[in-house]
Amino acid sequence: MLTQKQLQNFAELAIRVGANMQKGQEVVIRCDIQCADFAHLIAEKAYEFGAKLVHIQWRDEVLGRINMLGASKETLSKVPDYLTAQSKYFIRHKVCLISVSAGDPNIMKGCDPDKLKANSLASMQANKEFRAATMSNYLRWTIVSIPTRAWAKQVFPNDDPAEAVDKMWNAIGHIMRLDCDNPAEAWRKHIDTLHRRARFLNEHNFEYIHFTNNGGTDLRVGLATDHVWIAAEEMGQDGIPFTANMPTEEIFTAPHNRKIDGKVVNALPLVNNGNVIDDFEITFKAGRVVDYKAKVGYDALKNILTTDEGVLSLGEIALIGKRSPIAESGILFYNTLFDENASCHLAFGASYPTTVKGGNNMTEAQLASHGMNQSLQHVDFMVGTKDINIDGIGYDGKETPLFRDGEWVI
Ligand code: ZN
Ligand code: ZN
Repeated sequence: MLTQKQLQNFAELAIRVGANMQKGQEVVIRCDIQCADFAHLIAEKAYEFGAKLVHIQWRDEVLGRINMLGASKETLSKVPDYLTAQSKYFIRHKVCLISVSAGDPNIMKGCDPDKLKANSLASMQANKEFRAATMSNYLRWTIVSIPTRAWAKQVFPNDDPAEAVDKMWNAIGHIMRLDCDNPAEAWRKHIDTLHRRARFLNEHNFEYIHFTNNGGTDLRVGLATDHVWIAAEEMGQDGIPFTANMPTEEIFTAPHNRKIDGKVVNALPLVNNGNVIDDFEITFKAGRVVDYKAKVGYDALKNILTTDEGVLSLGEIALIGKRSPIAESGILFYNTLFDENASCHLAFGASYPTTVKGGNNMTEAQLASHGMNQSLQHVDFMVGTKDINIDGIGYDGKETPLFRDGEWVI
């Protein structure tokens, strides 16, 4: 368990390093009702740093399941319009967003996959405008995470619930650098290291990134024309930096959606909409998925890959060394925020306009001409095994080693 002081430091990191809330700004906290105490702590801290007004969008994952079981597919295919109105208000008022991502990875287990798909499609469509505002950095935002009982129980199945929650707090405390004397300073140093590597990658302007390992992965991922590698801190459209994921260990950019070839095998399970997908492999040709297999959760994978055309290509490539505190913890969190930061990953679906030069001012057609992928989905999946080798290949064909045996060599 964290001390009260550590919890306060945590809330402060979310507000100041994460969303980088400015004085006089409205704040939206998205949070499950199980994490109410932490949301209230963030709200109090936000006012200490000059928030104008704090809104909380409560989630209730248990009600989500009850609705999924009780409501018809037709009902679940529509999202109540007051939610869209709320999003519009948030965009108009230029809020900053703090999401607390915490929940039972298996909450939707056994629910009808058709209903799940219809519902997630409807909420993605309803959320399109707000997501565009965050993905383009028009709004500053961050995601943090704290334990819930069901989640901790899944991560530490052999412990009783209270012990599992306790272990999870300790793990997250370490990963969030809350056990350092000065967590904010530790974060500053960490962010600087990530920025140095991102600069190296940007200076080299590779045409391809080549992944190989002993588990069958041999994949060449072309990079979008004029791509930009981004790490840790990003720039809001208003010129104010923020850190979208806390923790963050990744350096990422956009693939070229017509230049991806080969086969990739997953390194960690993928949790999506309350389903676990594992032991899967994906084959690409000229940027498109042409074949896929999964020993666990095939239907859930199929659900993702049949959302729209764009989901069959990639929108993100992210590099993370095996010596990151999350990877070193050896804990499988069944939560993308952590697991994606434990391992190199790719994402099916949409790319971030910020990962190409001038992307925020491009039309969809201009983005597409740079190889930027578009989709309603953005689903990360982990590919960075402990033995992965990664090379950058320049436009002149020159190869530069980036990773050997799962770790950075630059
Ligand atoms: Zn990522
Ligand atoms: Zn992603």
